[in-house]
Amino acid sequence: MGFLSFRGGVHPPHFKEATTRLKVEKAKEPAVVTIPLQQHIGAPCEPIVNVGDQVKVGQKIGETSAFVSTPVHSSVSGTVKQIARMLTPTGEAVCIVIESDGLNTVHENVIPKGDISNLSGKEILSIIKEAGIVGMGGAAFPTHVKLSPPPEKKIEEIILNGAECEPYLTADHRLMLENPDDIIYGLKAMMKVLNVTKAYIGIEDNKPDAIESMKKAVEKETGIQIVGLHTKYPQGAEKQLIYACTKKEVPSGGLPMDVGVVVNNVGTAAAIANAIKTGMPLIERIATITGKGIKEPKNLLIKVGTSFKEIIEQCDGYNGNPGKVIMGGPMMGLAQYTDEIPAIKGTSGILVLTQEEARLPEPKPCIRCGKCVEICPAFIQPLYISAYALQNMHETAEKYNALDCIECGSCSFICPSKRPLLQSIRVSKREIIAKKRKTK
Ligand code: SF4
Ligand code: SF4
Repeated sequence: MGFLSFRGGVHPPHFKEATTRLKVEKAKEPAVVTIPLQQHIGAPCEPIVNVGDQVKVGQKIGETSAFVSTPVHSSVSGTVKQIARMLTPTGEAVCIVIESDGLNTVHENVIPKGDISNLSGKEILSIIKEAGIVGMGGAAFPTHVKLSPPPEKKIEEIILNGAECEPYLTADHRLMLENPDDIIYGLKAMMKVLNVTKAYIGIEDNKPDAIESMKKAVEKETGIQIVGLHTKYPQGAEKQLIYACTKKEVPSGGLPMDVGVVVNNVGTAAAIANAIKTGMPLIERIATITGKGIKEPKNLLIKVGTSFKEIIEQCDGYNGNPGKVIMGGPMMGLAQYTDEIPAIKGTSGILVLTQEEARLPEPKPCIRCGKCVEICPAFIQPLYISAYALQNMHETAEKYNALDCIECGSCSFICPSKRPLLQSIRVSKREIIAKKRKTK
């Protein structure tokens, strides 16, 4: 097989050995869950339960009428103890705290929804929305929105992202080995919603067993192709994945739908299959708990709302004093101030670095080596954008296409002077976007 790729990118060490061969284990039942009403991009939900209410597994506890949002559901049965603003992995949000009764009584609405062969595309879309499904790769964008392009944007292909290019993470890898049929079922459901007949599943070549597993799963299918990709970061980023699989280039400032493509994660496809087959909304997910700062790394099936602290304790706790706790991988993950925060739908992993690993080197002046420009997969000039960002010259940074930055962190990784490139570009992007919103 010839492996495909994109222009630019870097080769960080994989660090996947600790968990790549470990089967997914079901995490211990949490005694209490803290479920944020904002776990995704878009509008937050409003609580539809009150303190003192009894709730069941899969019961809707938060909803909104906003299009770019999804409902949230309880992952346990028990009593609502508190509704208040709390710290979550993505900032502060209103959370619903539920004390489990340990019975896991399933809500009456959680019933199988039928089969994709006799459900219409519209019905499948409504199941996806009601099940609160979001992108499981970490970005957590509401899936029903991605599957509802405006009529003028004709979608021709779906790409499932099985690249898992972030170092350390192995949750998608294990899913492709342990549950390939649900991935295909969910993909076919999405194909029906978008009325497309062609799909690709892109997988990096450092996961040959996953490539084999998925190839076997599509043996009897038509229109679904498994694409082996070169192992290179950020192979799983949308624009890079689209280019590798189809050679289509998403224009600057454009979206995948502009070239007739929708990209979703393999975990999202499996969540869709589960919602259709069992009626269970998105209340749990696979996450990789790993890093030298963890005594016994694992791939765990965790319930949304379980605290990081409790999850880490199930991995035998910290290896010494932790240096940094990150939700996700080291390149695009979010550093956390505390482990007293709940796992959310986008928690693809919890990475703990030792104090030595977490120590940031002192940045030195730029030596104009050009390496950051050479590897930038968005074909922008990180050194200049960063320099303007650091001087608060955000308008100039915008002229240098700062908004095209996909925040992959490759430039920071490659920079020999250890400049804070991504961090400064991120600040500039936020400023530019905020200004645009204000002008509107
Ligand atoms: S500028 Fe943005 S897109 Fe380019 S390498 Fe840096 S983080 Fe990635
Ligand atoms: S990689 Fe670092 S040192 Fe080299 S040009 Fe870019 S910012 Fe400057």
